[in-house]
Amino acid sequence: MVGVDLGGTKILTAAADCRGGVLGRVKVPTGADLGLDHVVNEIVRSVELALQQAGITAENVAAVGVGAPGPLDPRVGLVYLAPNLGWRNVPLGEILGRRLNLPVFVDNDANLAALGECVYGAGRGADNLVYITVSTGVGGGLILGGKIYHGFSGGAGEIGHLTVAEDGPLCGCGNSGCLEAVASGTAIANRAKALIEEGRGLGILSEAGGHKDGVSARAVAAAASRGDGEAIMIMRDAGRYLGVAVAGIINLLNPSAVVLGGGVMQSGRILWEAMLDETRRRALGPALQGVAIVRAALGGEAGVMGALALAAQNNIKKPADDL
Ligand SMILES: [Zn+2]
Repeated sequence: MVGVDLGGTKILTAAADCRGGVLGRVKVPTGADLGLDHVVNEIVRSVELALQQAGITAENVAAVGVGAPGPLDPRVGLVYLAPNLGWRNVPLGEILGRRLNLPVFVDNDANLAALGECVYGAGRGADNLVYITVSTGVGGGLILGGKIYHGFSGGAGEIGHLTVAEDGPLCGCGNSGCLEAVASGTAIANRAKALIEEGRGLGILSEAGGHKDGVSARAVAAAASRGDGEAIMIMRDAGRYLGVAVAGIINLLNPSAVVLGGGVMQSGRILWEAMLDETRRRALGPALQGVAIVRAALGGEAGVMGALALAAQNNIKKPADDL
């Protein structure tokens, strides 16, 4: 199998056996500003390099999985919109299929991170899994019955835009009180900056070297772990809102695992415990019993591992021991 994680700044490509054992791994810059042809050439080159490293020839590859940013149509591999890449309506699956002369399957990068954690990571063995990534924004994916759940028109899994605070702050999507608007790294930093503008939040400000513009979620987390009361309040509130979302998802889907990843989830115990407390308070007994709420295990590799898993799931032409 070959998996490709196409990001705004880098392309991560892996060649692996059918059990996800990575034999070759290549990282190259995307060079999105150099245009579509350049990016396609770089993907093709990275696939060739990964295969070379793995000692595999292209004829022995059963399928290629590709994770791309932005909304897309996974049935045909059409990327509708990827602002990071400057793309609109790019038939990526078709282009790569032609260039690589292999079956290519494309899905959204957050969906593939969910699949990666489900098949090879923290949710290994789970058939029904919800993945939430909290970093600058909040994203996620749903794995139901072992497969990515796309919904009616491909829009499922937008966990960041669950409303958790009806009259909360404005979200980038135009709605107010989305999970992303109250629990993302950006939201945490914005809340701290607002405090500082009122002349408060001095403990946080000192973590940011005294510069308000340098205040990040990381600075808030650092101040919180030092015991700063205002920082603790901000991290706790973000965690609580995450718990509201996680409990709602548990009540709706009864998954066997909820996997949380992204930089903000690594920001210490305060946010994590607030999330767990709120989840336990709101989730209903039968669905809460037995659900594993765990940290993501694959970090930045989740997308490429999910791309490998997608390729493996679509490997219907060749025997299972193929690559
Ligand atoms: Zn939103």
